[in-house]
Amino acid sequence: MRSSARTLLCLLFVLVPVFVFAQRSDREPSQIRSAGGGAAPDISDSMTDEQRAEIQTGLEQNIAMLKAVGKLAPESPLAVSLNWPVRKANFTDVFIEGISNYVDQNPANPGSTLDWNCGTRTYDVAGYNHGGIDIFSWPFGWLKMDNFQVEVVAAAAGTIIQKADGNFDRNCAMGGGNPNMIFVRHSDGSVAWYLHMKANSLTSKGVGATVAQGEFLGVVGSSGSSSGPHLHFELYNASNQLQEPYQGACNGLNANSWWAVQEPYRNTRINALLTHSAPPSFPTCPTQEVPNTRFVFSPGATIYMAAYYRDQLTGQQTQWEMLRPDGSTYTSWTHTSPNTYNASYWYYSLALPSSPLGTWKLRTTFQGQTVERPFAIGPPSSALVTLSGRVTSFGGRGIAGANVTLTNSATGANRTALTNRNGIYTFASVTAGESYTMTASQRRYTFGNAVRSVTPVENTAGLDIVAR
Ligand SMILES: [Zn+2]
Repeated sequence: MRSSARTLLCLLFVLVPVFVFAQRSDREPSQIRSAGGGAAPDISDSMTDEQRAEIQTGLEQNIAMLKAVGKLAPESPLAVSLNWPVRKANFTDVFIEGISNYVDQNPANPGSTLDWNCGTRTYDVAGYNHGGIDIFSWPFGWLKMDNFQVEVVAAAAGTIIQKADGNFDRNCAMGGGNPNMIFVRHSDGSVAWYLHMKANSLTSKGVGATVAQGEFLGVVGSSGSSSGPHLHFELYNASNQLQEPYQGACNGLNANSWWAVQEPYRNTRINALLTHSAPPSFPTCPTQEVPNTRFVFSPGATIYMAAYYRDQLTGQQTQWEMLRPDGSTYTSWTHTSPNTYNASYWYYSLALPSSPLGTWKLRTTFQGQTVERPFAIGPPSSALVTLSGRVTSFGGRGIAGANVTLTNSATGANRTALTNRNGIYTFASVTAGESYTMTASQRRYTFGNAVRSVTPVENTAGLDIVAR
C-alpha cells in the first residue's frame, strides 16, 4: 500500500501540465497585453482494494438490515436515469465544474487505461483502476469549497444506505484517510457512491432516510485520498457490478447510458469570465485561491480580464470584445487555444482609458456561447446597486420573517433586511465593487450551509438562500 501510494504521487507529478503562456497574436490590438494563463492541474483520487471491499461489505450489511426493518423496498425493474450530481450554489460563474477522470475500462494496471469514449481520460495505479467519474470545481475550487458554492445532489431518488462525515477535507494527495461520503440505493437496486465531501457538510438525514432526485447531499470537498476539491461519483447496478454512466463505443461495463441527458465527452465551454485588479493567484494546495476580482476601476487603471474554460480544445478561438457604456466596441481581439485541456484559463491586461465613466462590458464568444461581464470605470461609490433574492425552504417555499444580514467583507459593516410573505428580501443602495457575505436566520430553520458571497457590479436578483 505504501509503494502504491508512492507510485500514484509520481504519476500525479507527471500529470500536472506544464504552465503554458498565451502567445501574442497579430490579431490583438496594440494596447492589449497578452498576460498569461494555461492549464489547471488535474484532480484525482484513489482507493485501495481493501477500502473498497470494506465499503462493499458495509453496504451489503446495511441493505440487509434496512430490508429486515422494512425501510428498503424490493428492487423494481423500472430503469433509473440519472441527473447531474453537482449544482452551483452561487450565481457569479456560468458553470462551476470540469471532469478530470472517467471509469478506467482496461482491467490491466498500472499504465493501461481506456475510457468509455476510447480515450485515456482516466488513470490507474498498481491494484486500482479508477472506478468513477471525477467532477472537480473550477475555477477557484478551494474558494468555492470554503463558501459552500458547489453542492452534491442526488443523481436519482433513493434511500441512504451509508454515510460518513467529519473527516479532514483539505487533502492534496493520496493517502488522505477516510472521505466524507454518502451512498444512495435507487429503486432498481443500483447504488450511487458520492465521495470526498467537505467536512460536516452532509445532509442531516441518516441511514434509512429517503432522498429525492436533486436533493442536497453535501458540499464538494477534498476529504480522503484526494488531490483537490471534487466529487467522485461511482455507480453499481443491482447485481453490484461497476457501471460507467456514459454510453460509448469503449464502455465494456454496460450498454446503455444511465444519464437522462448524456453530456458530450468534451463539454467545451467558458465557466467564468471575470475582471481582476491583478492576475488570479493559485497558491500551493490546499491554500484558498486569491482571485483578485474587481468590478470597479479607477480611470486609467490596469484591468486584467480572464476567461476560465472547461474542455478547451486545440485551435478553438475565442472572440474578445470590450464595449463602452453606449455599447460601441472599444477594442477586440482573438485568442486561439494552443492545446487541449480539461480546465484552462487565459488572461489579458489593458490600461483603461480615463473616459467615458460608467458601466462597460467585456464579452467573449466561444463555440457559440456568449458570456458578458460588466465592469465600471469611476469611483466605487458612484455605483449603487440593489440586491435581492428569496429565502426558501428546501422545497422552494418562501420563508417569511427571516433576517438576512449583508456584511461588507472588508469593513465588517452590516445591514439587515426582513423577508416578506413570499420570502423575498431587498437591499437598496449597496456600493458596487465591494465584497459582501449574506447570511439568513429564522428561528424555525437552519441555514448553516447557505452563506452567500457576492461582489456586485449591477442590480442583482436571484440571490437565494435555501434552508437545509
Ligand atoms: Zn475518482
